[in-house]
Amino acid sequence: MKDQYNRIIDYLRISITDKCNLRCQYCMPEEGMAYIPHQNILRFEEITRLVEIFTGMGVRKLKITGGEPFVRRGVEDLIPMLYEIQGIDQLTITTNGIKDDLLLSLSKYFSGINISLDTLDQDKYKEITRYGELHHPLRALEKLLEQGHKNVKINMVPIRGFNEDELIDFAYIAKESPLKIRFIELMPIGCGKDFQGLSENEILTTLNSEFGEPIPMAYRSNGPATYFTYPGFQGALGFIRGVDHHFCHQCNRVRLTAEGFLKTCLGFSKGIDLGNLIKNGAKDWEIEKAIEKALQEKPLENQFDNFIVEGKEIKNMNQIGG
Ligand code: SAM
Ligand code: SF4
Repeated sequence: MKDQYNRIIDYLRISITDKCNLRCQYCMPEEGMAYIPHQNILRFEEITRLVEIFTGMGVRKLKITGGEPFVRRGVEDLIPMLYEIQGIDQLTITTNGIKDDLLLSLSKYFSGINISLDTLDQDKYKEITRYGELHHPLRALEKLLEQGHKNVKINMVPIRGFNEDELIDFAYIAKESPLKIRFIELMPIGCGKDFQGLSENEILTTLNSEFGEPIPMAYRSNGPATYFTYPGFQGALGFIRGVDHHFCHQCNRVRLTAEGFLKTCLGFSKGIDLGNLIKNGAKDWEIEKAIEKALQEKPLENQFDNFIVEGKEIKNMNQIGG
């Protein structure tokens, strides 16, 4: 499917819950929040029906996210249901890795697994996540490597005054293993506004001082990440730049929230409530028409740096899925 700017949209990110077993400081408030009422959350049959409609319209890649996807009850039934859907070439997931056993038991369904990890120090991990025990994501990473999983990435958000001294330690993981480390630019969404990220230049300067000249890579994942490596590395490193508009012209994605709201841009609240349509008995063709209409209104750019533009997203990232 195409949007009004002729961009091909073939990637759907689905948040299957807005709840989480952590409270990362830049993502969620400590006290939690008003969650989507249970009756409004899409049921599994509703999720799979929507995914079938999207694949009929050209979506080929599906990302499961949240909140924390592994806290959704019955996720072990949902993942195989999504895996079976004809037309999906890539089923991937982003998780904090706290439910490591569940992740490992379902890993065979995923062509890509992203584990979010901002520090390698247990005290700092507890500080930034407010609850987390570091041994869970570390064990998940170790076991996925033992399983020989081919596409495992670490999502690290560099934060000024918190983890800038760990950039080189993270890069050593990519030196010594085939994992990919992705440095995610902190986005000024919800609680993220209270933190400051590091620039790509700052990160590169630090890494180059230890590893030499970076080697650009042709490898691309589903999103705007650009990858590079260093001599002698098994794995790779990448930058995800969300804030500037550099990659908006090649945006290939839309997002579905846990209640079925189709978001057409991370930076804006606009979109269409497919959950409401589906719960009111809409036919498939009516849902397709609604999706097409929403795509015709997909914004050109996220406009994160424009503080006065109308319709900006005010939700926290756990409600959107990243
Ligand atoms: N709970 C899962 C996890 O943490 O991987 C999936 C959902 S989480 C919202 C997805 C990603 O969004 C995580 O890698 C997290 O670090 C990132 N994230 C959350 N808030 C962010 C922000 N304000 N700026 C940039 N990335 C953010
Ligand atoms: Fe939960 Fe992921 Fe947000 Fe952390 S980043 S609070 S793990 S949803």
